[in-house]
Amino acid sequence: MLDLTPKEISPRNALRINPCKTCQPVGALYAALGVRRCMPHSHGSQGCVSYHRSLLTRHFKEPAIAASSSFTEGASVFGGGANLRTAVKNIFDIYDPDVIAVHTTCLSETIGDDLSTIILDMQVPEGKVVVHANTPSYVGSHVTGYANMLAGFIRYLARGESSSGGAAAVLPGFLNPGDLRELKRLLKLVGLPFVMFPDQSGVMDAPMTNTYEMYPQGGAAIEDIRALGSCAKALALGFFACAEPADVLEKKCKVPNLVLPLPIGIMATDELVMAAAEAAGTQVPAELEEERGRLLDLMLDANPYFYDKKVAVYGDPDTVAGLTGFVLELGMRPAYVLTGTPGEAFTRGIDAQLERFGVKGCKVKAGADLFELHQWIKNEPVDLLLGTSYGKQISKAEDIPLVRAGFPILDRYGHSYMPIVGYRGGMLLAEKIAGALMDRQDRDAADEDLDVVM
Ligand code: SF4
Repeated sequence: MLDLTPKEISPRNALRINPCKTCQPVGALYAALGVRRCMPHSHGSQGCVSYHRSLLTRHFKEPAIAASSSFTEGASVFGGGANLRTAVKNIFDIYDPDVIAVHTTCLSETIGDDLSTIILDMQVPEGKVVVHANTPSYVGSHVTGYANMLAGFIRYLARGESSSGGAAAVLPGFLNPGDLRELKRLLKLVGLPFVMFPDQSGVMDAPMTNTYEMYPQGGAAIEDIRALGSCAKALALGFFACAEPADVLEKKCKVPNLVLPLPIGIMATDELVMAAAEAAGTQVPAELEEERGRLLDLMLDANPYFYDKKVAVYGDPDTVAGLTGFVLELGMRPAYVLTGTPGEAFTRGIDAQLERFGVKGCKVKAGADLFELHQWIKNEPVDLLLGTSYGKQISKAEDIPLVRAGFPILDRYGHSYMPIVGYRGGMLLAEKIAGALMDRQDRDAADEDLDVVM
């Protein structure tokens, strides 16, 4: 294949090549799709939202709806307030959502449109809601945009006087619908009453019927988001995606929060299960203990294939932290761990995980790109790549197996239905990793060594 990445690494501060992230509105749009009867709205040019929608559609293989303020030269110079007012009227008239979730883009942020004031002054039909989040794409990544949109919804809607019946607020990180279904199953098994926001299951994995539904049945209802304010506690899953919105909820409605890692792997899932059981005042059910035991059994059975294999993990920070914890539990050796999202909390968290398992010599970097990863691998190869579809070129150029996990996965099907969270998600992931490593072993085996048993 065409491989122009040089082995020699030269200093590079002002350029990203093959970035390991995308822009804030993608995350804001995905967060809004986790709200029932919500129309996400991009306050910028049509080009931006076309890209954001197509990226989400390519990952989920589902239509990702969104409207646009359709900036042209006039709005770019004089501000987009008039465009937004017209858009909101048209959207409610034509598409009849319950809520419009507006996010900004680079352009509207740069010209400085004041969305709080524009929305405050506009006519919104009775019973309908408009919320907004500022999502400048020259800051953070799509994960930041996801967090900002969650915080935006909470600022507009969460109410301390609403009634949640003492439930826990669960803020899941940037996860697939299959993960959200698994999370809900797990929390129900523990007996924790909860309000989950957002919830893209049922929206971005809606079943095929003969009728197109612009607003499928899933998603957190506006009442659910209001009820977040009266929850007894908030469980925020993923530091980068959920710590900020949980903080906004605490400040606004005095709901104490606990920020947990995404429950990927044994220890992180244990943390969530124990926290949920404590919040519910219940014991961990035998069914979950059995699931955990089955995952442990699989990990032990396949350990000879995992043990000491060098792996590069890349993608979104919370997901990468979870995946790194899991490969460490499997006995693998992370050699490179990186995310495109900037933030020292990432490197601190990964370093702590590596130290706990006594792993030395791993390169860990936030705000990194995949060109850099490719160069590292050219200098010192790994046995496995674990991350998004964007590692495909490295996989092919260096002949290294790639196990796809995280966002986005553009070149496969079914991934968004399959969890990587919880004990069940761990089993699916361990099976994929073992399969990739064993396929490589078979491919490289001499004819006389090819064994059908191992
Ligand atoms: S201009 Fe900004 S918001 Fe639009 S697609 Fe590019 S990075 Fe994203």
